[in-house]
Amino acid sequence: MKAEIIAVGTELLLGQVVNTNATFLSEELADLGIEVYYHTVVGDNPTRLEQLLKQAQERSDLIVLCGGLGPTDDDLTKDTVAAHIQHSLVQDEQALAQLHSYFRFSKNKMTENNLRQTLMIEGGRAIQNPAGLAVGTLITEKDTTYLLLPGPPNELKPMFKQNARPLLEELFPQAEQLLSRVLRFYGIGESQLVTDLKELIDGQSNPTIAPYAKPNEVTLRLTANVTNHKKGEELLDQLEAKIMAQVGEYFYGYGDENSLVEVTVERLKQAGKTISAAESLTAGLFQSTLGDVPGVSEVFKGGFVTYSEKTKEQFLGIDPAILEEHGVVSEACAIAMAERTRELSEADIAVSFTGVAGPEELEGQPAGTVWIGLAEKGKPTIAELQHFTRDRRYIRRSAVMKGLDMIRR
Ligand code: ATP
Ligand code: MG
Repeated sequence: MKAEIIAVGTELLLGQVVNTNATFLSEELADLGIEVYYHTVVGDNPTRLEQLLKQAQERSDLIVLCGGLGPTDDDLTKDTVAAHIQHSLVQDEQALAQLHSYFRFSKNKMTENNLRQTLMIEGGRAIQNPAGLAVGTLITEKDTTYLLLPGPPNELKPMFKQNARPLLEELFPQAEQLLSRVLRFYGIGESQLVTDLKELIDGQSNPTIAPYAKPNEVTLRLTANVTNHKKGEELLDQLEAKIMAQVGEYFYGYGDENSLVEVTVERLKQAGKTISAAESLTAGLFQSTLGDVPGVSEVFKGGFVTYSEKTKEQFLGIDPAILEEHGVVSEACAIAMAERTRELSEADIAVSFTGVAGPEELEGQPAGTVWIGLAEKGKPTIAELQHFTRDRRYIRRSAVMKGLDMIRR
């Protein structure tokens, strides 16, 4: 489906008038899913307009012409198009009635050439003009559709919107398309998310909302079934706003692909901050996860795996007294690990993981107990206590996700 717009008027070529009609029409057509391939301007000259029509007819399914529907001798668009497709011009009764009633109440006198404005191309559909006297035409001939509209934008716009657009929608129906958007959440379980959004999910048919639980995160897929792309995006925007109003604090990103680690790395890049890590129970999983992201070298400096008590002292220089007094599964240990790592690596941010991966307990603490430390330049160091469940693999993976989420926030 190819369309083009021809603006007729010497005043446009002279640069006296800006071709705003083409802008308006292009936007409207795009909204109807009709692609515009050419904008041309031609003077009030029937020979050149006819040449252009010959070209346009070869390359376009829809030709929208604007300008030259008026009463004066230089208004030649109708005559030229009619001759081009070998049709004649006929009086449109409705436009004629409108013309008569206009002059009944006007102090101006109707002249012979006013009647020209009520002519349309025979065999086409009249496009009535709610803001003026010139009637337009929509006509299809030999697989090409011609739409004739007047030049003044205050006439063209309402004519197009009210009277031409519905006919074009009928003539060129758009296939239905599915538009979807994926929202990703961390820190809220699927059942909680679905409970919070129950009313919205139940009351929603287009777009639909489909929740999907992945390890450690939940995604919502919003799908709109529409015939118009812009309208679909609007529907998705509205629904997304409602979802955000309820569970926005857990939202971290869009798309099927943008995982939490990618979003976190992107944030660090944007903030121009570097990162380092010290890992006990995760044993390098956090750093390995960072390593999955292409271009992470911009922000990731490196770090430590300090699995034993001894390496926490040896590699990081943590005071043995801290470990003796608090144990390794402790806030104090997580804080010391993060702070020492930041100092040693000279990164802006350092994160630390220490805890019990299980299945055995450690220091009297059950599997899943994890402290995650976060040291950042110019901020007080913090550590958060987490209690993860399930198996060893899941606990270590959950710790990594939580660490990423703490950095991202
Ligand atoms: P009229 O009955 O006013 O003569 P018409 O259909 O014959 O209408 P034109 O004579 O081509 O239209 O143009 C009338 C006026 O409309 C122009 O002087 C100009 O101000 C405006 N106009 C025409 N074409 C365009 C365009 N492509 N973009 C913006 N304004 C335009
Ligand atoms: Mg004119």
